[in-house]
Amino acid sequence: MKFEPTMYTERCPVCQLPSVNAFKGAHFEVDCVSCGPFTITKEAQIVLGQGKLSPEQKANASWFLRLNPEHSLDTQNLAMLNRARGLDVNEKGTALLLALSKRYPRAGDLILYNSLVVLPKLFKFRDAQEGGYPQNLLTKDSLSPFEFLAICACRDALELNWVLQNWLLKCGYLEPGPADAFLQISLEGWRLIAEMQKVGVESRSAFIAMPFAPRFTPLFELALYPGIERAGYTPVRIDRAEHNNRIDDEIIAAIRRSRFVVADLSLHRGGIYFEAGYALGLGLPVVWTVEQSALDNNEVHFDNRQYNFLVWKEGGYDDLAKRLSNRIEATIGRPR
Ligand SMILES: [Zn+2]
Repeated sequence: MKFEPTMYTERCPVCQLPSVNAFKGAHFEVDCVSCGPFTITKEAQIVLGQGKLSPEQKANASWFLRLNPEHSLDTQNLAMLNRARGLDVNEKGTALLLALSKRYPRAGDLILYNSLVVLPKLFKFRDAQEGGYPQNLLTKDSLSPFEFLAICACRDALELNWVLQNWLLKCGYLEPGPADAFLQISLEGWRLIAEMQKVGVESRSAFIAMPFAPRFTPLFELALYPGIERAGYTPVRIDRAEHNNRIDDEIIAAIRRSRFVVADLSLHRGGIYFEAGYALGLGLPVVWTVEQSALDNNEVHFDNRQYNFLVWKEGGYDDLAKRLSNRIEATIGRPR
């Protein structure tokens, strides 16, 4: 996103929590305190406004958007939001612990208790009339606890607080810090994090390494995403590398947490080769896809020719989705 909003005075079209919505001709660029940044067409926003996402679906949709930053929503792919799987109770607990370990990476780092608690009064934002909300509370800092709702796919503050109190504090993964208002990750917590960061043989996530040019959007939405989902896994795509051309820690961590990687080599980008190579080095299976034309033009790096590609053509997305889920089930199996 190119803008750096300071006041979150609008509402997210998906979850209705505070957001900034910048109108760009045919679509809005939304930065939501919970869902994160995404774009949505005007038509899709109208459809969403008319439809009735249940609180559960809203929570799962926010979770999906946070997993897939800068996703573009239109009327064609809105249904993906309704189908987003969300997390079970234990996954919510581990998701919160992992998110905390990213923000507070050193042993003994102090976590301000309030930074984890979604202030209940802010929930009145959902019901407040336009302009009826105290402006000084609508900054990113004061609203940052909302992101944990999306990270944990929690419906509301009560559910998030349950995860915090029971899963993290009672089970001893977080413990009181040296001063009253603070918490810290305990030794047990760090052990669990280390365990989770081991290669994801038990994981239900699948990392997608693919080009992000608009031409490839249908490949993601109509083929790779549904194909992986049909085989029982949660697709994870992190596209920031496309913008800053570097492999960041989050990508490395996401690959490590995945059961396998789907890599599309149609544009033979260095980053994609790196991500696939990293996965292979960890012993994770990689399912390769490539556009017919790239294969015909001999554009795919030679060393990869020995692998058995799922070849696709523009428009043949349903077919690719089917072949992909079959390949996953046949070579990797459904999640345990
Ligand atoms: Zn939102």
